[in-house]
Amino acid sequence: MKKLSFLFAQLFFVGLIFSQDLKYYLPDSVSYDPSIPKPKDIIYHEVGEWHVTHDRLVNYMKVIATAAPQRVKLETMGLTYESRPQVLLIITSPKNHQRLEEIRQHNIKLVDPSQSASVNIENMPVVVYIGHSIHGNESSGTNAALVSAYYLAAAQGKQIDELLENVVILFDPSFNPDGLQRFSTWANQHKSKNLVSDPNSREFNEVWPGGRFNHYWFDLNRDWLPAVHIESQNRLTWYHKWKPNILTDHHEQGSNATFFFQPGVPSRVNPLTPDKNQDLTGKLGKFHAKFLDRIGSLYFTKENYDDFYYGKGSTYPDVNGAIGILFEQASSRGHLQLTANGLLSFPATIKNQFVTTLSTLEGAKVLRKEFLEYQRDFYKLAANRAAAYTVKGYVFGDKNDLAKTFHFAEMLKRHQIEINELPDNWSDAGFEKESAYMVSLNQPQHSLIRAIFEKTYDYKDSLFYDITAWTMPLAFGIPYAELTGAIALGNKVESLKTPKAGIIGGRSNYGYLIKWDELYAPAALNELLNAGLVAKVATNSFETGVSGGNKKFS
Ligand SMILES: [Zn+2]
Repeated sequence: MKKLSFLFAQLFFVGLIFSQDLKYYLPDSVSYDPSIPKPKDIIYHEVGEWHVTHDRLVNYMKVIATAAPQRVKLETMGLTYESRPQVLLIITSPKNHQRLEEIRQHNIKLVDPSQSASVNIENMPVVVYIGHSIHGNESSGTNAALVSAYYLAAAQGKQIDELLENVVILFDPSFNPDGLQRFSTWANQHKSKNLVSDPNSREFNEVWPGGRFNHYWFDLNRDWLPAVHIESQNRLTWYHKWKPNILTDHHEQGSNATFFFQPGVPSRVNPLTPDKNQDLTGKLGKFHAKFLDRIGSLYFTKENYDDFYYGKGSTYPDVNGAIGILFEQASSRGHLQLTANGLLSFPATIKNQFVTTLSTLEGAKVLRKEFLEYQRDFYKLAANRAAAYTVKGYVFGDKNDLAKTFHFAEMLKRHQIEINELPDNWSDAGFEKESAYMVSLNQPQHSLIRAIFEKTYDYKDSLFYDITAWTMPLAFGIPYAELTGAIALGNKVESLKTPKAGIIGGRSNYGYLIKWDELYAPAALNELLNAGLVAKVATNSFETGVSGGNKKFS
């Protein structure tokens, strides 16, 4: 008899895992607007029953924006390499939606020290960017986005009204659409009718390169700083359009772990990140702990993970006057996996991600003024940091490679860094006015400029999770120099001009020479070869007559 009741208990437990409807995730103390479609009405399966594909995810986000226009507005940030839309929902109260542009302008003023003192933050909403599954195969985040979007659009009552009155949510359901699509296809096509939890099952072992990466197999969670890829570029445009005060970055970790939230290891925080940033991260952490306790989930904090490399989504905000939060959920990878902690179901992983979105929003609401003040101070104090620092600016540029110089300057502009031309009386022969720029460190993005140009030799900790060095001019192979003492700046560069190539000396009746130093020389050669022209390579430097004069070629 005892044995039988144990068996029943097991069956009951398994039943709980597999036939979840939305109630499993949602707080039961809240009522919901029945006119808002549930995910299953649109994506054809319960959340967690299958891994949502990106197309179905976008369908649902569109429906939510149409069904709850007073709360939700859908924007398309751009398209991925595989032409998937990067959608962003802007979610806030109906009242805030009516003055959305005014709220955005307020937030922009907050990061401008020349205007920020006059901004009244008393009734100003805090801006929270919620971001999911930049690693496409860490998909509990994106699947939780279905629940979060439903909750934020459909929940009724004083609590949600208060939240939406005080918070503008920039809701990004998928940081990496192409990777998500690749992974969801794998996980779904290998799902068994009777779920197989053996970690050796094919369901949990994607073939290389897997869904972590974007179309070009690049890890987008290392690209926030170089911003080489289209997904990062689209996202950064919207990031700086709004200057969020908090950004969340929902990931997954090894299946035998539990749940991690930042702060990370204190000795592995980037020294350019202010202590106050970590204090506020810790204050938000108390909300995550409380919310996870309520549903009986295990977690850890201040261990294992860094907060160092600004090319990661959870660290980039830390050098932009905001608070970035890394979440790491133990991965079920497929639908149900046996782990050191017992059976880990996909729905259980989704639930933790959803709950920590709620805890973030609650913390943002309660600590609203602290986040706004912190961002204002971060930029106000940039001038003090600049005054106290020996290096006053940088000059950079490659005389022989205008395109590379252009792309480096373009990267700086993407991060809202001001750059200047060289002044007329410039005398350092290493750099020429036509092919170089200057960056002053006395500007709001002081810390980010240092993060890009500085070489870091000293570390508090010898252990690291990830990237420790990324001096960007060295990565680009671009000449640069530190400027100390008083510096004179040339004109401010408002917009960069793409360098244009051309033919010197007009049409030839014999042949043409192409310099090989330029970034796009190989592309030009490829065009010529495709056009059927014959090309030869010079393997020594030489000098020859070109268009009336002699010219040296390397
Ligand atoms: Zn990850």
